[in-house]
Formats: sequence, C-alpha cells, structure tokens
Amino acid sequence: MVLAVFLGQFANADDRPNILFIFSDDHAPHAIGAYDGWLKSVDPTPSIDALAAQGIVFRNSFCTNSICGPSRAVIQTGKHSHKNGFMNNGNSFDWNQQTFPKLLRKAGYTTAIYGKSHLKGEPQGYDDWKVLPGQGLYYNPDMITPEGRKRIEGHCTDVVTDLAVQWLKQGREQDKPFMLMVQHKAPHRNWMPALRHLNLYADQDLPEPNTLFDKWHDNAPPARYQELEIDRHMHLNFDLFVDLVPGFDGNALQGRYDKSAWRNMQRMTPTQLKRWREHYKPLDDAFHAANLTADSLVRWKYQRYAKNYLRCVRGVDESVGTLMETLEDLGLSDNTVVIYSSDQGFYIGDHGWYDKRWMYDESLKMPLIVKWPGVTKPGTDNNALVQNLDYAETFLDIANAEIPADMQGASLVPFLKGESPDSWRESIYYHYYEYPSVHMVPRHYGVRTQRYKLMRFYQFDEWEFYDLQNDPDELTNQYNNPDYADEIAKMKRELERLRTQYDDDSDVAVLTEERQAELRP
Ligand code: CA
Repeated sequence: MVLAVFLGQFANADDRPNILFIFSDDHAPHAIGAYDGWLKSVDPTPSIDALAAQGIVFRNSFCTNSICGPSRAVIQTGKHSHKNGFMNNGNSFDWNQQTFPKLLRKAGYTTAIYGKSHLKGEPQGYDDWKVLPGQGLYYNPDMITPEGRKRIEGHCTDVVTDLAVQWLKQGREQDKPFMLMVQHKAPHRNWMPALRHLNLYADQDLPEPNTLFDKWHDNAPPARYQELEIDRHMHLNFDLFVDLVPGFDGNALQGRYDKSAWRNMQRMTPTQLKRWREHYKPLDDAFHAANLTADSLVRWKYQRYAKNYLRCVRGVDESVGTLMETLEDLGLSDNTVVIYSSDQGFYIGDHGWYDKRWMYDESLKMPLIVKWPGVTKPGTDNNALVQNLDYAETFLDIANAEIPADMQGASLVPFLKGESPDSWRESIYYHYYEYPSVHMVPRHYGVRTQRYKLMRFYQFDEWEFYDLQNDPDELTNQYNNPDYADEIAKMKRELERLRTQYDDDSDVAVLTEERQAELRP
C-alpha cells in the first residue's frame, strides 16, 4: 500500500520524452558535414555533426513541396499541401485545423514556438509563441507575440535561440514534458550573417560545385526558363550587399543600396552598420577595381553568396550547440529527443543556381538528424525514403499519443529504434504549385524511388526522367530514351497510384499555347 502511494506520486511526474525540434530555413543537407556533400571540406557545421554522431542521420529525407510555408504546413498537419490548404507562400494557413502541437498539448505536453512560422495568423497549439512577421529580418527583428509586436535587438538567430533557452529555463511548465520548436530564419535569402561570422572563410576560396556552369542542355525546357541563376538573376546589391557606387566614402549610405537591400540594412544599429561596412568596403572596392565579367564574375558572386550562406549556417550551428548545452545544464539531456531539420534543400551554386522549388535532389532533400538518448544508436545512417509528411506522426508517436487516421505520413519511431518496418513506402510523391511567381519554376509533380525520378511539368506537358544511379546530378533527361521505356511506364503507374493514395485532384491542366508563349517569351 505504501509502495503504491509512492509509485502513484512518481507516476505524477510525466516521464514521456521531451521534444526539441530545431528547424532552419533553406539549409541544404550538402551544407552539413554529416551529409558528406561537396562542402564538407570546409567543416560547415561542427555542432550539428556532433548531434549526428550521437544519433541517426536520414540520408533519403525529402520534402513534399520545396518551399518555406508549405513545408511548415505539411509538418504541422502530417498532410500534403493540397490537403492542408497551404500550397504556396501566397496562401494563409488555416490554424483552426488539426495540427500536431495541438494534439501534443491535449496529450499533456507543454509547447512553444520561437522564430519563423511563415504560416500567417496567430499560431495555435502553443503555450507560448513569438514568431517573425513573414520572412522576418536578420538584424533587430520584430516578433509577433501574444502581447503584440516587439522589436528585439540582436541577430535573428541569436534572438530566437535566447528566447528558446529562456523558455527552457523558466517559461515552461516544469511538471509536463515539453515540445519546443526553434525555427530559424537563417540561412534564408538574403544572407546576412552575424557580425562575429563575417570573417569566417575570409581568407580562403570555397570549393565550387561541379555543376556551377551547367547550361541545362539535356534537361527539359523548364530548366532553361527559370530565373534563379547566379549569373543572370542574383542581384549584386540585394543578394550580395555590394555597394553600387565605387569609392564609397562612409556617408549617405542610403543612395548606395537599392531599396530592398536598404530595407534590411537600415534595421541595423549605427554600430552594427559601421562594422558591416568596415568589413565589406575593401572587398567592394576590390570588386569594382577588378571589373569582372562572364565566368569570373559568376565565380566571384558564387564566393560571396556561398560564404554568406555558410556564415548564416554557422549561426544556426552555434544555436544547436547552445541548445544542447542548455539541455545538459538543466539535466534534460537524457530525456529529450533532439531533431535537426530544415524546410527544404537549396542550390548553393549547384546547376548555376540559388533558391529551391524544383524536384531535383538538391532542393528536394531535407536534412533530418535525430538524437534520442537510449533509443537511437549513435552514429547510425538510415536510407529509407522519409518525408516531412512523417514528422507530425513521429512526434505524436514519441509522446505515445494517438496518430489521427487522416494524417498521410507514418511514424519514423521504428527507424529510431533501429527496427525495419515490415512495409515502408518505396516511392515519394512531390507537388510544387507556385507559378508564375518569383524565380519562375513551373508547377510540377512527380515520383522518386531509391533509383529513379519521374517529373511532369504539367502546365507545359513536359516530362523528365532520371536514373539517379547513373546520373546523380540529373543532367540528362532520359524521358525519350527507349532503353528506359519500361521503367518510365512503371513510374507513371506509380505516380498515378500515389495521386490516388494521397487523393490529389488539384488542377493539373495544360496551359493554352498562347499562355505558354506569354510565360516563355
Ligand atoms: Ca525555406
């Protein structure tokens, strides 16, 4: 009897695992050391790599729709874009629908979100929240909070980390397990690193991707009609903060940057701006003096872009380190599942591009690293085809909460335990919708297996098929190669099967020839 009373008291302390979900924006797996991409040699992510060494790295982790808001909506709901209603960044998320944070809260978790929501409207399902309006700003960002809008001084990555640390220390209900979402803006365009990272990589050239000068000769036409080339579309001023007027004298900054670049820079304090300019002025002067053209100009832009991108990544990496230390200091480490992921991949000069959107692997892939002490075996790899569609189900499963039948993914917990589920998907479904829009990547849907990928740009009725084993960079469309006819027919059947399974009957009409010609002058 006495024992039962004691046990009863202990049972009141809920020992279900805590969930710390660290999520960044546009962080491609190939910019993470643990993913062994072509940037590994510059050691971009020591803290994330340390997390990976203690947990499991999902090597075939994909999004369903490669763009910021939609990826987040899929994670909230465990449903594809056409089911959760957030198909492109112009949509507004219906917060009244079922989301995993609401379900976790109902199951007894205390929840919070800090940073980029990108779903518009006030977040629901959280005991506390502070989110950036829209994309938010890198320096001294405004945050929308339950008490209204507040400006917080500092670099956005640090601001978000500080809010999370503060909640872990003091904000959360201590007798409940927690689910904390730390959602960084970095390394999203336009890439403004913290001042302490400006000198990172200053004295070295970053390696270039093999496909920096790809001209998409053997891809279907959409690859040639996009607007995301470092060469033709990346702005020296807006994207790279190059002073447009040579010989800058340190005064009257505003006229020297275009409006959009200035919108970001004017948020800096005078001290921050001074340090920023001290760093870039000599570099900008040297750039103007060199008078670069053609390939050497592309190479220069790539270096400035990729360095600033990786500097923003380093801020996120330090945040991961800080959060891990905080868990340790608070004695929470052993019972907290830590997840690192980002909303999609990104082109870091791959194919000559920046940005995302395509179903090509560089932007289709998402990093996914999970450490669950006592459950995940340190340093393991997983090659199953997993998606952000699975996150909500996984979080609910970790919390031992019920997974609603209308969610469309599946829990990854068996993989975390080192098990191989009897049946797991052999293909993933993808659908991108935002067109015509910035960067001009046409709508497409497709299917990917471990080896093959079939994509259809349906508005133009154009198809692509890739053999990823023989052509991992997806340089040669094999759709018209008779050697692949059987495989292509199989993939078409699989695509239709997936569209039926996920109940995707969204509009996939071919545009009139007149409209097609307007879009591709
Ligand atoms: Ca993104």
